[in-house]
Amino acid sequence: MTNKEEIHCHCECGKTQLNVAKPPMLRFHCHCTICQKLYKQPFSDVTVMWAKDAKLIQGEFIEYRRPGLLLKRGVCTQCEQPILATMTLFPGVKLAFVPANRYGDQSLLPKPSAHIFFHRSETAMDDGITKYNGFVKSELIISWLIVKSAFAQLFAR
Ligand SMILES: [Zn+2]
Ligand SMILES: [Zn+2]
Repeated sequence: MTNKEEIHCHCECGKTQLNVAKPPMLRFHCHCTICQKLYKQPFSDVTVMWAKDAKLIQGEFIEYRRPGLLLKRGVCTQCEQPILATMTLFPGVKLAFVPANRYGDQSLLPKPSAHIFFHRSETAMDDGITKYNGFVKSELIISWLIVKSAFAQLFAR
């Protein structure tokens, strides 16, 4: 059975694939050094959803790496592209993160809400999206945005 709302995502080589149940609740840009290295980009463009809404449909090549503490970053070993990261907030409460450029249909994605770890940015940006500097501030704002968007999604139905 296929759900009409499901959005298909795949890595660059197509060997790792997943379906996202509905448009993600949040999208942000992260400029931290881990993201810079993993994405081989100046910053990451990431979407957030509940882990239950991100279903791997082809996952034999995914490998989870933990350069940080909380986040398990799933990378396709065939193309070295990040495709799905997960983070457990509390037992049973788990978030998933999928890079925005992995979605087949970009029009379903929300606009980015923030740039975090912007002190790591190598270029000034004037895109109208709020920038947050510093580790603590970045961690706090992203936690707050996740809570806020989770509640918004909860009450939107
Ligand atoms: Zn980052
Ligand atoms: Zn791949």
